[in-house]
Amino acid sequence: MEILQEVKPRVYRFGDKSADGNSKMKNLLGGKGANLAEMSSIGIPVPPGFTITTEVCTEYNLLGQDAVVEMIKEEVEASIANIESLMGTTFGDKENPLLVSVRSGARVSMPGMMDTVLNLGMNDEVVLGLAKKTNNEQFAWDSYRRFIQMYGGVVLGMKPASKDDIDPFEEIMEHLKEKRGIQLDTEFTIQDLKDLVYDFKDAVKKRTGHDFPTNPWDQLWGAIIAVFNSWNGDRAVYYRNMNGYPADWGTAVNVQAMVYGNMGDNSGTGVCFTRDAGTGENVFNGEYLINAQGEDVVAGVRTPQQITKLGSERWAELAKIDDDDRTENYPSLEELMPKIFNELNDYQDTLEKHYRDMQDMEFTIQDGKLWILQTRNGKRTGAAMVKIAMDLLKEKMIDEKEALLLIEANKLDELLHPVFDLSALKKAHVIAQGLPASPGAATGKIVFFADEASKYKNSILVRIETSPEDLEGMNIAKGILTARGGMTSHAAVVARGMGKCCISGAGALKINYKTRTLTVGEHEYHEGDWISLNGSTGNIIEGKVATAEPELSGEFAEVMALSDKYGVMKVRTNADSPKDAKVARGFGAEGIGLTRTEHMFFEVDRIKAMREMILADTVKGRKQALEDLLPMQRADFEGIFEAMEGLSVTIRLLDPPLHEFVPHQLATQKELAEDMHISLQAVKIKVSELEEFNPMLGHRGCRLGNTYPEITEMQTRAIIEAALNLKEKGIICKPEIMVPLIGTVKEFEFQEELIRRTAKKIFEERHDTVEYLVGTMIEIPRAALMADLIAEKADFFSFGTNDLTQMTFGYSRDDAGKFLPIYIEKGILKVDPFEVLDQEGVGQLVKIGTERGRSTKPNLKVGLCGEHGGEPSSVEFCYNSGMNYVSCSPYRVPIARLVSAQAAIKATL
Ligand code: PEP
Ligand code: MG
Repeated sequence: MEILQEVKPRVYRFGDKSADGNSKMKNLLGGKGANLAEMSSIGIPVPPGFTITTEVCTEYNLLGQDAVVEMIKEEVEASIANIESLMGTTFGDKENPLLVSVRSGARVSMPGMMDTVLNLGMNDEVVLGLAKKTNNEQFAWDSYRRFIQMYGGVVLGMKPASKDDIDPFEEIMEHLKEKRGIQLDTEFTIQDLKDLVYDFKDAVKKRTGHDFPTNPWDQLWGAIIAVFNSWNGDRAVYYRNMNGYPADWGTAVNVQAMVYGNMGDNSGTGVCFTRDAGTGENVFNGEYLINAQGEDVVAGVRTPQQITKLGSERWAELAKIDDDDRTENYPSLEELMPKIFNELNDYQDTLEKHYRDMQDMEFTIQDGKLWILQTRNGKRTGAAMVKIAMDLLKEKMIDEKEALLLIEANKLDELLHPVFDLSALKKAHVIAQGLPASPGAATGKIVFFADEASKYKNSILVRIETSPEDLEGMNIAKGILTARGGMTSHAAVVARGMGKCCISGAGALKINYKTRTLTVGEHEYHEGDWISLNGSTGNIIEGKVATAEPELSGEFAEVMALSDKYGVMKVRTNADSPKDAKVARGFGAEGIGLTRTEHMFFEVDRIKAMREMILADTVKGRKQALEDLLPMQRADFEGIFEAMEGLSVTIRLLDPPLHEFVPHQLATQKELAEDMHISLQAVKIKVSELEEFNPMLGHRGCRLGNTYPEITEMQTRAIIEAALNLKEKGIICKPEIMVPLIGTVKEFEFQEELIRRTAKKIFEERHDTVEYLVGTMIEIPRAALMADLIAEKADFFSFGTNDLTQMTFGYSRDDAGKFLPIYIEKGILKVDPFEVLDQEGVGQLVKIGTERGRSTKPNLKVGLCGEHGGEPSSVEFCYNSGMNYVSCSPYRVPIARLVSAQAAIKATL
């Protein structure tokens, strides 16, 4: 019997209120394709089309163009025929042509990363048919010139030759504008557009050596292949690496009937959000342009108008435009086309309820008919994310667990970052105003080119407008300022996604890339001059403005309270001072997981005693210096214990190599020699003796405490005496003494025994006791492997994943910067393992260490205090590994608390 094998479709259709796919098929259809299918099936008017799956992209990468075209040819041709019958038009027809768009669509949104071609199917004959059919010759030729421009750029590689170069097509247009004495694209006559088409095609022939393709089918296949190629283009690879998206995801290709927003005054196009993406406020908002195509809104060449009357009034107030001027020149869609507005308002409501999240939609009005081009969960600022999640919860659209899962933990960072200091702001000189595109405060030195953003420690990227090529520089800059563009311009959307302060559309700025100057009225600013941006008001301020701590919203507190309700794993902080401890406690830290005591020795009044201790030739001399240090350390610990009253505080014994503390410059060496009444030569000899070839693997960690037990003794005394002193004052403290960098059981045992002996002695002296623990860091691979034996004596483990990563990979923490970026660029590593815990490799040691430790002591307290303790994916891993706590820097405590809850919730799903 013959078994018929079902052939998996490679092409999925949508349109006319039905679809082959749905929103659950994002991996196969890409985010855009899955959404188009879903929208179509719930009755939203999307232009008909089809999606070629992401799997075909992977097949293309493996098998090449010919094999893939052969595979999907029949399905693509039948799907075009389907669009033709739904739209009543024909692909390539001279009289009644169908034109299509071809867009990429990965499973996650990658704004501006991939390429798009619009108006495909156009040629010298089709343009005449379109002109006749629409009775709009201007529109038809404008569409044609746009098509050649996009197709030329995306498919035929007609791009600027260098960053200072202008786009070859823009150059032709600029020439013509100059010749004709006009300023705007809309001022071109029909003859101008025809000339442009001719000149564009000529430029293509000259540069590529080939005629511009006239056959619509050739155009279509060219565009489909170009979209597949764009998945491996520089911009996409950079974005993928930045976000850790694997190469084998691939992109889908969406082919869809074109609808036109530039068919006259009864047409238009826009972008809208179901809630405010900047603040989270529950108001429908967005921007549109009459007689324009989608990219006109995003490119920011014309100033867009607001969708709602409320939005329009608010905008006018900011722009200082009176109401008569507003209603006459910039009316809202609500006022200008009330019927269309009502329809759009209904759809936004339907879509938000359907997707149960804030939506970002694109629409086009073609000759009085509304089409929805796409919807997706909107990118938003951290503040908006928190507000929207809590509002949707209150509106009962989602439950508590869903609300927590809706929040991208890393984005909380934005809420916790400094804002401008109010008193400094009062004195600030505001030089101009732009749109408050992405909130926050930024201060830095002006740079004009994205690839120069790293020139200064703090830079502000100033551009006429940004493009996807600028992404890397935008990521580095502290803030972004553009002269053009609305709230949905590239700069605004990308900055909001990055949580970076941005002001867009500051029309008063004159930017000259050649002279590298920014002129506002009479004043000229140069590269390297300080400016400050207030992304929440749109104010551009001269000079450097001091920043202040942010105030947290009520919704933020609600999110944190909910996190604590669902979170199981505790969150502590890494803090070395009472001030940091207090900040962290304010953010909800449940104790200290790491106090690095060495940081205390660097302070001016201590470094001298520390140096004397290190340079001492005898034990007696060293003890004398340590005695000087004791009261200072004790006072430090008292401050920290007090700030963390009632909570556990883990204090780590001295860790870094001693040579870090001694002076390396002649002047300071002389000073020290004088202070210690020894010769300069003696200081020099000691300093060179301490020099190491591999300090990270040298005389540091418990190796110090084991070779100079007096140091451990002094530190233990300072900790225990501080605890006893506070106890006398009625303040409860729970010290945990932590031994760093052990690799062998004996290394720990020697230290542990010394600590307990010292503590016992103090208890006898003081006739009083406090409870304390003695534990160790697990940060050398050998310690993880020996964890069962180490746990016999240790009260707790804390994974030091900074060193554990260093030693497992064999990458020096101090030198990895030289090669890691190249490794990431080349795809040898997906992400920086010092930032994101390598769960595959280093994670194994964490699991082994935890399991072996608990095989000896089932209730062994286990935590993590490396930098990974505040990184969401690593925190989730810690929860899944059964840890009791993670410890991170104060500002990351809220992030870790949220992730702790999210991890616990995910485990129950
Ligand atoms: C670690 O190694 O992870 C750690 C927390 O210690 P440090 O960074 O001080 O070496
Ligand atoms: Mg360490």
